[in-house]
Amino acid sequence: MTNKNKIDWKFENSYLQLPKDMQSKQLPEKAKNPKLVLINHKLSDELGINLLSLDPIYLASIFSGNQLPDGSATIAMAYAGHQFGHFTVLGDGRAILIGEHINNKKQRYEIQFKGSGKTEFSRNGDGKAALGPMLREYIISEAMYHLNIPTTRSLAVVKTDEKVIRETELTRAILTRVASSHIRVGTFQYFAYKKDNESLKSLVNYSINRHYPEIKNNENVYVNLIDRLMDKQIDLVVNWMRVGFIHGVMNTDNMALSGETIDYGPCAFMDKYDPKTVFSSIDHFGRYAYYNQPSITKWNLARFAECLIPFLDANKDEAIKIATDKINEFDKKYEKKWLEMMSDKIGLLDTEKEDEVLILDLLQWMHSNKADYTNTFYNLINNKVFNDQVYDNADFLTWKDRWKMRLSKYKNKMDKVEKKMKFSNPIIIPRNYKVEEALSAAENGDIGLVEILLKALEKPYENNSSLKDFQITEKLNKSGYKTYCGT
Ligand code: AMP
Ligand code: MG
Repeated sequence: MTNKNKIDWKFENSYLQLPKDMQSKQLPEKAKNPKLVLINHKLSDELGINLLSLDPIYLASIFSGNQLPDGSATIAMAYAGHQFGHFTVLGDGRAILIGEHINNKKQRYEIQFKGSGKTEFSRNGDGKAALGPMLREYIISEAMYHLNIPTTRSLAVVKTDEKVIRETELTRAILTRVASSHIRVGTFQYFAYKKDNESLKSLVNYSINRHYPEIKNNENVYVNLIDRLMDKQIDLVVNWMRVGFIHGVMNTDNMALSGETIDYGPCAFMDKYDPKTVFSSIDHFGRYAYYNQPSITKWNLARFAECLIPFLDANKDEAIKIATDKINEFDKKYEKKWLEMMSDKIGLLDTEKEDEVLILDLLQWMHSNKADYTNTFYNLINNKVFNDQVYDNADFLTWKDRWKMRLSKYKNKMDKVEKKMKFSNPIIIPRNYKVEEALSAAENGDIGLVEILLKALEKPYENNSSLKDFQITEKLNKSGYKTYCGT
């Protein structure tokens, strides 16, 4: 029976079947006077829950965790992870899973609060989150979704009448995150660290059933699992490289088994092309810089493969060899996918030996001339970029001649070339200055700019009247843009 005055969640809680120390039952802390700030109606349509007709006061009470829906089972999940290369036991320190919602297409979505108060895993943290960072996660994750990049999503943000203490006092907020699951590489590391192979095996089998059921009857199911995760993560990081996304904190606890982008903390989009770009204030050595993302993906996958060693072969040396050989397949696979992606960005319909040089020369030119990554590809499609003379540069024009020569063999297929380029090159990305402008207005009580920004990010591959605003890059460049974690 559906109740028109309530959200029509259909919760299952399969995670509870896993060994007890995988999770701890945990209630959200009460929020003081919660108010709805954002709600994602398109996502709620996909979930098959109609939020439009519901009272905003009721929604604020649900999405703050003050009122728990029927069928929910609130848990904080245990996990571990390598943070900047150092192993730590972690867990949901400020997040609570409220349940796995099943929509009418039988798809499973985990619904989780972020910023809902202390848990058993909070260590020294307050379990809470500030409005700016939660809106930031909402904006960037939705941008990624519309860019056709696998990602967790954001269903709602509520703010409360409490303050959280960071460098200054900030408005407290709670984000509702939706993910195909919150199982991380770090979840496996947790049991591997405890040498609890029985629990580890149940997690592995659970994860296969949930994310890769097609391999479950394979003879080499555990090697296949490494393979599948590698393919998913290569697909993901190639997409990040395609749009200039820098995750910023690719710790193993922030790598999802589903292959979705997860944990939007210090992430940001690169503007001028520089492979060493880092925005995160704590990434002093550039571990998670733009160009390091593929090798860190491989490093994280190696940590995952290590967790599976007990199941790869009865002989440990043989198991290590199997895992190592598998991980060593990464570089070739990644390079192939990266080259395909970059070839798409410049509209190539087939491959030639010299393509890689052509692509690398363009990147080199962008780097030397501090050209904007997104705008440069827009220039290749449309010629004009608002107010940027860098594209009159002689070396660029020479490169373009070479490129046009390369395209000349597609004379009768230029529509295909154009289509490929338009599909591969976003023209509207969440520009750092736009995001900051919208967030500071929101912190001062005006959500209008966030809403306008979200609307523009819904169609990143299409020209629109605000394109000009999204081609401006220099506003924040001068001071050096910085982003922050865990706030
Ligand atoms: P993150 O950098 O967001 O991936 O978080 C790393 C770990 O720190 C996770 O275990 C989080 O749950 C935890 N954490 C982050 N912020 C807080 C907070 N304010 N209170 C408690 N735990 C936190
Ligand atoms: Mg995290």
